Amino acid sequence: MSRNYSALALLRGALGGNRNWDQAWRSPEPRAHYDAVIVGGGGHGLATAYHLAKTHGMTNVAVLEKGWIGGGNTGRNTTIVRSDYYYPQSAAFFNHSVSLYEKLSRELNFNIMFSQRGMLTVAHSRGEVDFQRRLVNGMALNGIDMEMVTPDQARKLCPIMNFGPEARYPILGGMLQRRAGTVRHDAVVWGYARAADRVGVDIIQNCGVTGIDRDPASGAVTGVQTTRGAIGCGKLGVAVAGHSTMLADMAGFRLPLRSYALQAFVSEPLKPVLDVVASSALLGVYVSQSDKGGLVIGGNADAYASYAQRGNIPTAEAVSAALVEFIPSFSRVKMLRQWAGIVDYAHDSSPVLGLSPVPGLYLNCGWGGGGFKAIPAGGETFAHTIATGTPHPLITAFSLDRFRDLALVDEAAAAGIEH
Ligand SMILES: Cc1cc2nc3c(=O)[nH]c(=O)nc-3n(C[C@H](O)[C@H](O)[C@H](O)COP(=O)(O)OP(=O)(O)OC[C@H]3O[C@@H](n4cnc5c(N)ncnc54)[C@H](O)[C@@H]3O)c2cc1C
Repeated sequence: MSRNYSALALLRGALGGNRNWDQAWRSPEPRAHYDAVIVGGGGHGLATAYHLAKTHGMTNVAVLEKGWIGGGNTGRNTTIVRSDYYYPQSAAFFNHSVSLYEKLSRELNFNIMFSQRGMLTVAHSRGEVDFQRRLVNGMALNGIDMEMVTPDQARKLCPIMNFGPEARYPILGGMLQRRAGTVRHDAVVWGYARAADRVGVDIIQNCGVTGIDRDPASGAVTGVQTTRGAIGCGKLGVAVAGHSTMLADMAGFRLPLRSYALQAFVSEPLKPVLDVVASSALLGVYVSQSDKGGLVIGGNADAYASYAQRGNIPTAEAVSAALVEFIPSFSRVKMLRQWAGIVDYAHDSSPVLGLSPVPGLYLNCGWGGGGFKAIPAGGETFAHTIATGTPHPLITAFSLDRFRDLALVDEAAAAGIEH
C-alpha cells in the first residue's frame, strides 16, 4: 500500500476494505542516547523534531511525551490561526507562521483543513474603534492583511451578532483579517508526527521526564531521567507549555512564567450559521463553527494559577454570559463538551524562545497568548536554534534575556484574552 496519502490511495484503501494502511508512526523503545531530545509531544515539540531531522539532518532525535501526543494544549485549543500582532518582531514571526500553515498540508502530506474564513474582532465603543484603527494601521505597516470594517460590513459578515437597538454593547465596527481562520488541531499533531517518524525521529509516548542530568563541571545537559529510565542526550529542547516552569526547576533555574487553566466549550452540532471567526475582546468571548457543526467557544483564562485541566465554573459562566450577549440566538444552544488546557504566560504575553541559562538546554514556551497558530514557525525556528546553537533571526526578540534587559514585546492586546 502506498505510504503517501492521496485520492488514489483512499480509493485503493476503500477497495481493500481499509485493512492495508501503513502504521502512521512507530512506537519504538527509547535508545540509551540521542543527539537531541525534545520534551513534549505537542505541536511545537513534534514540528521541532521534524525540522531537526528534515532540515538539519539530525536523525538521532527523540520526542518524549508523558501522555499521548496532542494530549496537551495542541489537542485542546480552539484552533484559530491568525497573525494580527502589533509589534514588528511579532508580526514577522506570526505572519511567517500563517504562510507556513498555508502550505502545510502539502509539506506534511496530511490534510490539516486550514479554512481561511476570516476573523472579525468587533468594537463596542468609539474608544475601541480608535484603538483598533491604530492597531490596524500599525499591522498594515508591518505587512499584515488587516482592515477596518464599518457596522454595515460587520453585519454582512456576521448578521447574527447583537445589532438590536437594545444591545447593551452596540457594535460600531471592527477589524478583520481575511487570511485568518481555523485549522484542525489533531491533524497538525498527527501530520507532524507521521512526517517526523518518516525522517527517523523516535516518538516515545507514556514517557514523562522526571529529572534533568547535568555535567558537574560544565553544567551542560547530559540527559534526562524518565518514567522509562535514563536517556542521554547532547541537546535538550523543552516544549512542554504549562509545565515549562517544572522542567526549569528540574534544571535548576526559574522562568518568569505563570500557568493558568484556559477553557474551551463545544456545543451540539448546528446547521451552518457562522462562517467567520467572531470575537469580542470587551465581552471576553470568541466563537467559530466547526466542520461538524459545533460552535467552538473560547474566552478568558481562569483568574488564578492552576494545573487543573478541567477549569472552573465562574469562568464557564462568564464566557456563556458573554456569548449570549454577543450572539443572543445562541442562548438556546446546548453545550456538549467543556475542558481546559494549562497555558503559560509571560508578563508581556509573548513567547520565550531560544537559549536558557543551562548550556545545551533550549526553551520553547510562554505560548499562553496563543501558540497553536505559531506551531509551524515555532518548530522551524526552534530546530534551527537547537541545531546551530544560535537563535534564529525571527526569534531573537523572544529570548529569555528580554526580561533582564527590559526589552519586553507587549502583545497583551493581540493575545486577545486576559490573564
Ligand atoms: C482552551 C485553549 C484554547 C486555545 N486557543 C488557541 C487558539 O485558538 N489559537 C492559538 O494559536 N492558540 C490557542 N491556544 C494555545 C495553544 O493551544 C498552545 O499555545 C499550543 O498548543 C502549545 O503547543 P505546545 O506544543 O507548546 O504545547 P502542548 O500541546 O501542551 O504540548 C506539551 C506537551 O508536553 C507534555 N509534557 C508536559 N510535561 C512533561 C514531562 N515532564 N515529560 C514529558 N512530557 C511532558 C504534555 O503532556 C504535552 O503533551 C489555546 C489553548 C487552550 C488551552
